[in-house]
Order: sequence, then C-alpha cells, then structure tokens
Amino acid sequence: MSKILVAVLLMVLPMAMNADRLIRIPMQTDSDFTLVRDMGYDIAAGSRAEGYVDVMVGHRFVEETMVRYPGARLLPIEWSELSPATDSNEMGYYYGPNENALFWAELAESNDMVDTPTSYGTSFEGRDLNFVRITNAGSNAPAILFTALTHAREPGSNSVVIDWAQWLTTEYGSDTMATFILDNAQIYIIPIVNPDGYEYNNPAGGNQRKNMNFTTPVASSGIDLNRNYSYMWGYDNSGSSPDPYAVTYRGESPLSEPETLAETQWIDTIEPLGGFHYHTYGGYLLFPYGYNNQPTPHQATFESWGNQMAAQNNYQVGRCGQILYDVNGDAVDWSYGASTHSPMLFFTPEVDDNGFWGSQNDTTLIVTNNLECRYMNKLLCMNLLSMTGVEDGNFAEFEGTAMSIVLGSNPVSSVLSYTVTGAVPTSVSVLDVTGRVVATPASEDWTVPAGLQNGIYFLRAENGNQVVSQRFTVLR
Ligand SMILES: [Zn+2]
Repeated sequence: MSKILVAVLLMVLPMAMNADRLIRIPMQTDSDFTLVRDMGYDIAAGSRAEGYVDVMVGHRFVEETMVRYPGARLLPIEWSELSPATDSNEMGYYYGPNENALFWAELAESNDMVDTPTSYGTSFEGRDLNFVRITNAGSNAPAILFTALTHAREPGSNSVVIDWAQWLTTEYGSDTMATFILDNAQIYIIPIVNPDGYEYNNPAGGNQRKNMNFTTPVASSGIDLNRNYSYMWGYDNSGSSPDPYAVTYRGESPLSEPETLAETQWIDTIEPLGGFHYHTYGGYLLFPYGYNNQPTPHQATFESWGNQMAAQNNYQVGRCGQILYDVNGDAVDWSYGASTHSPMLFFTPEVDDNGFWGSQNDTTLIVTNNLECRYMNKLLCMNLLSMTGVEDGNFAEFEGTAMSIVLGSNPVSSVLSYTVTGAVPTSVSVLDVTGRVVATPASEDWTVPAGLQNGIYFLRAENGNQVVSQRFTVLR
C-alpha cells in the first residue's frame, strides 16, 4: 500500500467512524430541491411527489443543517449507521460479506440447479466479483439478471436477491411460477457488485457508497460505480459529479473501474433479456432514460410493466428525473442503450427500506421488503419470458390433462372467451402470477374488468378432481 493511500485512509476513516446522520428535509417546490442539491449535500433519497429529500450529513454538520431547513427531521441513527459486528452477526439482520459467501456456497452445494459462485473479474482491491446462476433450463435458455450492492451502503438490496434465490430453489416443483421460471430461464444474480465498499462498511460505520479506488485521481474518496457506466457518461453534472470527493463522482472516464468494466463485459456474454439493478432506499421503480428524462422507444412497456409490478407495493414508477432528478452513467441506461445486446429491459428498484441500515436490528421490514420485491421479480420474469414466445398451454401440464381450457382467439377484444372441455368445472377463477384470485368469471364470455392491471394472468378451472389453467395476457 502506498504512503499516499495510507494518508488518505487516515483522513477518511475518522469520518466514517463518527455518526453520520440522515436528515429529512421537507420540499414544497422544485426550487426547494434545487437549493438543497446546490449545497452539495449527499442526497440519499427523495421524491418530488411526496415532498421530501433525505440527505446524509457528517456529524459535524448535523446541527447547522437542522437550523438551515425549518421542519427538517433527524432520522433514527440506525438508518445511517451500522452497529459494530458481533460474534453472531456481521451486519445485524443483513447478510455481511462473509455471510454472503457462506450462503451462496451452501445454496450451490445443496441444490443441483444452483451453480457455485463464479468469478467474472476482480475488484479494485483484488476481491473476486462473483455471479451465481440458477436454472433447470440449460445454457441456451434466456438469461435474466438481478444485481445488488452496487452502492455499498445499501444492504437491503442484497437481502432481496438472497430471498429471491431462496424462494426459487425452495418452491421449485411446488409453486408453478418458480417452476416455470427455472424451467424456462437462466436466473443470474450478482449479490455484491461492489465488494470492496461493502467490506469497508463492515464491521461498523457504513456510509461508504462508492468503490474503494481512492487513487484515481490521487486523493479521491472512491468512484460512484452507478455513474461510471458508459452510456451518456458525464452528459451533464446533474446527479453525476466531476468532483472526486462528491458521493456521485463518476470517475475519470466511462467504465474506468474494474467493477463496472468486468460486469459489463460479462453481461455482454450472457445477453440477458432484462432484469433488476437493485438499490435502496425510497420505494421507487425506475426505468430509462435516466440521463435526460426522455422516454425510450420502450416507454409504453416500461410504464405498463412498472405499474403492474408496483401494484402491490405502491412504489413510485417512472424515470429518475420524474421522481427526483436526472442521473447519467447509471446501469439501467447502459443496459438499455449501450450493451452489445441492448435494448435490455432493466429497471432500478429502490427498495423501501428505512434508510440504509434501518433494518439491521429488526427483521420485520426486511421480510416485508423481500416479499414486495419477490412479487416484482416474479412479474418481471413472466413478462420477459412471454416476450420470447413461450406458448400458452404449458401450465395445464402441471396439474392435469383430461379437462382442458380452450381460449378464444380474439386478441383485440375486451371480452375473454373460453371453453372448458373434458369435464364440467365447478368453479372458474382468474389468478395473477402470484396466485391471488383476482376475478371469478360468471360466463364463458368474460368481460375483462377495466380495473384489472395489465399483465399476465391464469384462467383456472376446477371440478374437485382436477385443476387446469391457461395463461393469458392483458395489455391495453
Ligand atoms: Zn444506490
């Protein structure tokens, strides 16, 4: 380690060890937000529609910030600071670096569908950058990718992908969704995009967002990986900074960092249809373009899928610039615009955690967040897979064959016509992809209710002995 790096570490460490705090500032107008942003604050979350912006403030500046903004609220300390590790917990109820390594290794060992974590590159400090693949479909099946912890202080993103992997593997063979997804897709997961920053946050402190490249240029405080991707990198200074000490410092050039370069090169080889780049916090579901707040040619799809996926958790759906402010050089814009396989349909969910570390001592919210995101994960996979031309009818094979449902073939009608053959059903119902009954058609010419969200549904007929179902899509 060079002398310069040691000096820089000494400068930065004391800040991280003190209690940085999250402060919620009320925001009535756009100019309120502009004033906060122009002060150079570390903006953690916020929403124009909900009228607030959260800033992360070094402990020495807490008081002056509270005075500057009447109505500002100091958020609980556990939202911003990670408690020291104990013998039994690295990072409270979040999975720390070592706990992640153990979890993924054990999952792979105990389940044939899960590959051993595999390296796609090496981080700035020399750690393996790992992905995990889960599939029962083989290597020609379409890929769907989930990433987490691009920002090292957002452990709730990691909890979500761990829950997702657990659910897929546990429910395979009994839940028709899990079975369908793993029989038809390769699910790829990067549990920790930024392992150096995550390790640095462990065992205490927890405010490192960027990677640990403090040397480019000499005496930076790391590079914000989610501003370092190559699509429209450095387009302007909105939400992306040329200042090496800013929390949104984008680096000296696009893909300058080993973490982003290795990740994008690897993604180009697996060619995913789409996926989620998970972050925390705030409760938003973001889609491109982030850099200029303009719709992509896939705006209708992003909007329709987004609204459908957020129907349960009420996440705000839209482009970054619609929710708060534009950002350039982020992963969803790259996925949509710059991969050799673009356009890939990626979203950035901002998990609705309590600040960055707010669930460290309380599993309740982690569980809720995981369930809400699991619902979105399922819908995303189903949407992406139907895009590849998976046919109707596969689902009947799971549960019986003598009775069957034949769907009418008028794709533009608001009336769904169907016939049940082979036996007389005692009940017919419509389920969403998570298995909830959302309607019970009274006749074989069923008018699809106007209030039913766009999405994938199942028409299910039962007669006491058999259950058959057919998939259909509502898209207006
Ligand atoms: Zn983030």
